[in-house]
Amino acid sequence: MAMITDTELQKSLLRLLKSKKLTAILNDDFPYSSLGTLARIRDGKFPTTHKVRSSFGLAGMISVQRCPNCDSVHTRKCLPKKKKIKRTASVRDIATAVVYIKFLKRRIQIYAKNI
Ligand SMILES: [Zn+2]
Repeated sequence: MAMITDTELQKSLLRLLKSKKLTAILNDDFPYSSLGTLARIRDGKFPTTHKVRSSFGLAGMISVQRCPNCDSVHTRKCLPKKKKIKRTASVRDIATAVVYIKFLKRRIQIYAKNI
């Protein structure tokens, strides 16, 4: 079942309320719910328990810790992590390494001479 948002549910309920009463909506469209729950959704107070939310096709809720630095909740777009590309040594990197090895060899030779 595709999940819907709280406001999408409220909108569809308000749409239905244009043509029929809440009791009729309960019987016709949401027989698994209660009049109180539907009235609360109509008024923008959405269910929080997983059982009730999933019966309406609403995504589950979680508690989130506020940021200790700024006291807000940081949210991000749903961007799946890309696979990290393994960096291979470039020709330039290898050339730099060769030069550095030559430099170290020379230093060792100078050091050995002075022992
Ligand atoms: Zn912050």
